[in-house]
Order: sequence, then C-alpha cells, then structure tokens
Amino acid sequence: MKVTFPHLGSMYIFCKAIAETAGIEYVLPRPTSNRTREIGEYSTNESVCLPLKIILGNFVEALEDGADTIIMVGSGPPCRLGLYDRIIKIVLKDMGHDFRWLTIPGIFNWQAFMQNHEETKELRKELSFANFAKFPFAILMGWKKMNWCEHLEKTAARIRAMAIRPNEVDHMLEHTLEAIDKAGTMSSLSKAGKEGLEAFESVEKNKRPPLKVMMVGEVYTIMEPSINMDVEKRLGHLGVIVERSSYFSTHIRKGSRLDRKLLKKRKQFLDNAGRYLKYDVGAECNFSVAETIQAADEGYDGVVHVYPFSCMPENNAASVLSIAGPDLNIPILPVVIDRQDMGLRIDTQLEAFVDVLRWRKQGQIL
Ligand code: SF4
Repeated sequence: MKVTFPHLGSMYIFCKAIAETAGIEYVLPRPTSNRTREIGEYSTNESVCLPLKIILGNFVEALEDGADTIIMVGSGPPCRLGLYDRIIKIVLKDMGHDFRWLTIPGIFNWQAFMQNHEETKELRKELSFANFAKFPFAILMGWKKMNWCEHLEKTAARIRAMAIRPNEVDHMLEHTLEAIDKAGTMSSLSKAGKEGLEAFESVEKNKRPPLKVMMVGEVYTIMEPSINMDVEKRLGHLGVIVERSSYFSTHIRKGSRLDRKLLKKRKQFLDNAGRYLKYDVGAECNFSVAETIQAADEGYDGVVHVYPFSCMPENNAASVLSIAGPDLNIPILPVVIDRQDMGLRIDTQLEAFVDVLRWRKQGQIL
C-alpha cells in the first residue's frame, strides 16, 4: 500500500509524519504547479470549484508517481466541499485510474465511523501488527509537528512585517519547516522548533510600526500559498502582520468536537454574524463576516478577503462585507482567485491597499 493525500500548506508534514512513524509507505504529492491546475481544469467542467480541480490534479500526479491509496478529508453539506470526495473518486475512475480510497470524516460521528470502518476493511488487511502498534505514537508525532509548523508560521508572519530584510524570515521559515519535517524524535522536534523561534527573534527589525490585517475567506484558498499567490508573505514584505483563524489544526479540533472552547467560540462567531446574516450560508461565509466584525472591534487596520472566483458562500460573504466594511469603518480588500491570476496583479492590489491603510493610520484619510 502506498498512500497519498492532498496538498494543503504545511499539512503534508503532518501526514508524512504519521505515515513514516507508523511505517506506512506514502507518496508525497508534488508541489502544486500549473500542470496540476491544468489537469484539474481539463478533467472537470468550469462550474467546479478551484480547490477541487487542484486536489484532483494533486491526486493524478501522485498516482503517476506510484500511489495506490488516496486519503481525502471529507466534509458535510451544505457546501460543495461535502461532495468533493465522491466527485473526485468518479472523475479519477472515468480517467482510467486504479486506486483505493479512504475518506477521513470532517466530523467524527457514529455514521462517519461506520463509513470509515467499511472503507478501511481491505486496507487493514495490508497492515501489520507493528503498523497498528505504532499508530497512536504516529498520530501524536504528526499532531506535535503540525502544532510546531503553525506556531512557526504565525511567528514568521509577525516578524516578517517588522524585518529589515523580510526575505531572511522566509528562508528561516523554510529551513525550520524542513528541520521539523526531518525530526525523527520528540526531542529533535522540539530542538528544531526552538532553534527556529530563536532565529526569528534575532532578525534585525525596523522602527516602523507594522500594520495588522485579518485574512478571512475560503479555507483551502487561505491555507494553500500556491493558490492564494502567497498573499500572506507578500503582505508581510509590505510591513503587514497577517493573522488568520484557519489552520489545519483548527479544523481537526472542530471536527473532533472535543475542544469545547473552540466550539463555543465558533458558536459565538455565528451569533455575531447574525448582525448581517440571519442564517448559516454554509462553509466559512458566516465566519468571514464574523471575523471581520471581530477585526473591526479589535482595532485591526484592515481585512483581506480571499476566495476562489466561483465560490458560492464567499461570494455571498463578499456582498455582505461590501456593506459591513463601511458600516464598521474597516477597509476590506477582496482577493478573488481565478485562472488568470498573476503575481503582478496581486502585488498592485496589495500595494494600493497597504497605502490606504497607512494613510488612514497617519490620519491623512478617514
Ligand atoms: S467553500 Fe467555496 S470553494 Fe470551497 S467547496 Fe464550497 S463553494 Fe467550493
């Protein structure tokens, strides 16, 4: 058995750690490229969401590289994401690929457990006792690595905005994530993480106070830098700290329903969004609105709203935000991702937005 999984930011480090520690063979999906995107585009129709096309492309490339078992994260209605696993499976079969499929449920309930039990029936026969025995530690290792990755990414986003040479921070982050990925024991993992944090703190900083924006929007687009044209990094280079609530661990904690504090916070978010939305539109729509309200309340300088061109919930959120922005007196930049996106276009948009934020901060415009 050779498993593969989708590409989503640094999530591959988590998946790889579990597979390696449990002794399961895997194929790392290739970094998302134009070819990946084109495979997805040519094999689906134009109304299909961009994330589905990219994930499909990732899987095709991984199957070409020898994978035979696909592990996909599932979800539920009302958004189209709830159908991703079924659609991708059908498209891949139509394309003539031979593979086994395993859905990791988006919400861990009894029904999901039964489906998972059924899907893993054949796969379990290929695993040895040693694989099973190592599995709890493998999950722990993956979880720890993911937490380190996210902590380092958040720290890098803060330091990058203040650094005299932001490129240095990018290299440090890359280098530290590599070390986290390679760490084979808990102690080497924590050593790699701490060294990364120390390196960030040693960076030479400028005196200009950084701006702070909240990044809201569609989960996949927010978390995968190759899709969002590295908005977080680009803003960091312009002196802006980017904060976001969507991390892979957030969604695992949400799905497991064990983190009561997080669930309470999400419920509170939905209540807050009620000021503009009287029902749950689906996916992250209401959260994009709620996080914008939160950003305004907490004195953020602006909000960047990132979403794919044909994303139904986030197009709804965009309409609401066009009213909420002036109402809450907070600038909102919609970054709509589609096929034609070029780095230059994004740079122009971001630079103009950051100018506006600085002028507002200096009191030159209201
Ligand atoms: S949130 Fe948007 S992009 Fe994601 S599945 Fe739903 S419609 Fe598609």
